[in-house]
Amino acid sequence: MATLLNVKNNVLKRGKHYLTSDYKTRNESRSTHNGMDLVGQNGVDDIVAIESGTVTYTGYDASGGGYWISITTNGIEHRYFHLKKGSLKVKKGDRVTKGDVIATMGDSGNATGNNLHFAIYKNGYIDPKPYLMNDNPFNVESNDAYTTFIRDLQKAIGTNVDGIAGPETLSKTPTISTSTGWNHAAVRPLQIYLQNLGYDLGSKGVDGQFGKDMKACIKKYQKDVGLASKYQDGIVTAKMYTWQKLLKLN
Ligand SMILES: [Zn+2]
Repeated sequence: MATLLNVKNNVLKRGKHYLTSDYKTRNESRSTHNGMDLVGQNGVDDIVAIESGTVTYTGYDASGGGYWISITTNGIEHRYFHLKKGSLKVKKGDRVTKGDVIATMGDSGNATGNNLHFAIYKNGYIDPKPYLMNDNPFNVESNDAYTTFIRDLQKAIGTNVDGIAGPETLSKTPTISTSTGWNHAAVRPLQIYLQNLGYDLGSKGVDGQFGKDMKACIKKYQKDVGLASKYQDGIVTAKMYTWQKLLKLN
């Protein structure tokens, strides 16, 4: 039975995404299924990159995957299997943009029928569904989001508004924590920016207030950007380098 998915990130150009086999749900002859199968028409349904990235593999997998493509975005591979022979439109090293047609659906390799076997590889196969269903799962940052953040921050801290972060902007950044500056005008642009990066702001979303959810969110950000553990404190301050990271000055 096929399930119609309401995807946020199309992998089929025509739009309808019918799932016939989910990640790790097949449990008869094969114990695991490391991706999800989406059905369509052989040689008709164009397959598109779900996110911009670099092509890191194209070729044939004789053990079952058939013709397949791997594209890497922020260290995470999105893999497309059972592609139609001769339909591959990209080669290793190519840069692709989200939505670019990369191949056409087929049944090459050990496919049970016409389908795209879509998988996500990040130190092993992981559930690919969130990568189709969620906003910005690869934490891809648009230049627009960053520039908007800097401009709105500059407005909030009363410095020259030019969308370019430098020492002057940094010198005026406030300390924000659950006890200090929790309702500073800089909180809202910060929340919008983090949400754009794919961070979960908690149930209150963008509300201009720095509460416990934001503290947890900042801790995660501090860890993700590689700050030392002693600086993973959930406090946004230039003294402990979090503002430098947010402004890309470090
Ligand atoms: Zn499959």
